[in-house]
Amino acid sequence: MGGVKIRKIIYIIIAIATCISLSYGAHKQNIKNEIMQIESKIKKNTYDKQYNKAIDILKNEFSKIKPKDYNIVCEYIIQMTDYIRNTERGLKEVINILTTMEQSKHLSINSKFIVSSKLQSAYLLEQNYAKASRYILNTLILSKKMNDKFNEAKCLVDLGVLFSEIEGESTGIKSIKDGLDIKINDEYKNKFIQVYGNLNIAEIYLKNNEYSNAKKYIEEVEKYSNYIDVNEYYDLNILIYTIKSSIYLSENNSKQAKIYLDKSKELLNNEKLMVGNRKTIYQLATGKYYEAIGDIDSAVYTYKEVLKEDEYEKNREQDIRYALTRLIKLLEEQKKYNEANLYTDKLLEVIKESEDNKYKDYSYYIIEQASKEYKLEKENNMIKFLFIIILFGSIIFVVIHRYNKNRLISMKHLTLQDKLTNTYNRAYFDSKYEELLDKNIKFSIVMIDIDNFKYINDTYGHQFGDEVLKVITNTIKKLLQEHTYLCRYGGEEFVIISCYKIKEEVLLLAEMIRSSVEGISWSKDIKTTVSIGVAFSNIHYENTLKKSDENMYKAKNTGKNKVVVDNDKK
Ligand code: GH3
Ligand code: MG
Ligand code: MG
Repeated sequence: MGGVKIRKIIYIIIAIATCISLSYGAHKQNIKNEIMQIESKIKKNTYDKQYNKAIDILKNEFSKIKPKDYNIVCEYIIQMTDYIRNTERGLKEVINILTTMEQSKHLSINSKFIVSSKLQSAYLLEQNYAKASRYILNTLILSKKMNDKFNEAKCLVDLGVLFSEIEGESTGIKSIKDGLDIKINDEYKNKFIQVYGNLNIAEIYLKNNEYSNAKKYIEEVEKYSNYIDVNEYYDLNILIYTIKSSIYLSENNSKQAKIYLDKSKELLNNEKLMVGNRKTIYQLATGKYYEAIGDIDSAVYTYKEVLKEDEYEKNREQDIRYALTRLIKLLEEQKKYNEANLYTDKLLEVIKESEDNKYKDYSYYIIEQASKEYKLEKENNMIKFLFIIILFGSIIFVVIHRYNKNRLISMKHLTLQDKLTNTYNRAYFDSKYEELLDKNIKFSIVMIDIDNFKYINDTYGHQFGDEVLKVITNTIKKLLQEHTYLCRYGGEEFVIISCYKIKEEVLLLAEMIRSSVEGISWSKDIKTTVSIGVAFSNIHYENTLKKSDENMYKAKNTGKNKVVVDNDKK
């Protein structure tokens, strides 16, 4: 009797358990079906370039998912984030979604791992290095816990890329090589890591203009890339082709460079591809190519294309910076200083904008979070080592960044004119002087110093002194012809650098300046005069400036208000 009862109970228990597991299976399947429908909607919208709509769908649908179901949907959600993270708003939303999942206590270690590694790349994309390094560290710890060699290797490569950005090439490459050394049993995954790691090393060398090293590692990549499913990795080939194009350019082989540019263009035109910032990489390589073949106008055009605001496709800040830096240089070479200044301002703006993003988390986040993590993993020496590197790397990064910014501001100074007098400044003069000497172009220097200016300042005040400076420079400017540049050398001293003029023309100019300044009538009871020294580069070469200065002092010492030319008296 008792046995039958027990058996009955067991049957009932089994039946209930089956029901539960069947219904859970059904529940799982339902959610999966739903999410796949959402995915196809998002996919369609991205292909139609309806990015905002795609973002809204994902945001809305994700909010409906219960945290306990995150493990079921995790992989699908991750796939969907890939569609929308190329836009600024999309990236923000992706980070929101991933962070929400990451903080859920229901998440399994596997899901945690996937979310963490996606967060790491999202933060890298956002160039928030503090958070990126924190999640790389996190992913690394999880992959070790799961004994997942492939992902451990991939993390080390990512970490290396990050190091190369924040700390420099050698630490970065060391970390990537550590990743490449990890033994991965799965042959396909092993090849993938070889491609991924070597490609990143090549990119780092390319960034530092070390072309022969870049070439060496691209050859490594090509050993393995044939085994990788190309249909999945259009991006990869675009990268390989553009890097090869740059390498050929460095070898002055513009013909081969063009062939590889065209190959990557072909891939870009493939509509199956999620374009993202690969288009920018292609554009930048094209710009480089035009520069190399001396087609500066096309290079300028190409770099400007990169800067075109696209609401939907946000370019990486580093690419924008590169385009801006090249543009400024080219425009300066074309002597389009005003336009160059415009882009210098833009560059400063970009840096300022990104600064907030980059600095905001250094102070508390990485240090606190990573030290918590580190306590958990105290026994692991490698992680301790990485943790220390990340901290130092962050600090060094901040320093380097500041340094770059200061350099840029001084660069702006170089292109800027003197504010008070609206003439070129000393830095401009110095670079122009160097350039003309380098290029062996004949020029003349006219050095001008206002006489007794201190007296004017002391008697009528600094403000009136400023006014005098402005009026005198305006008077001089009206006398200038082409290829003649007026620069404020300092204080009340000006220098004119003039090319392609015969001696008599320059002397006439100097004399006209002297007499015009003398002739200015002032509101105050003053008379302004200048002392001028002239020298010619075909006589004094690199000493021309010095000679003109000596002549100007001769003019001062022999009564002022006169022009002295080389050894002539006037
Ligand atoms: P000299 O005839 O020998 O050249 O005598 P000086 O008084 O012109 O020369 P000195 O070098 O003794 O004085 C130059 C003065 O120019 C001193 C400085 O205060 C004034 N100065 C320099 N830059 C500016 C400026 O931007 N605005 C004004 N108002 N004054 C300036
Ligand atoms: Mg003076
Ligand atoms: Mg002086």
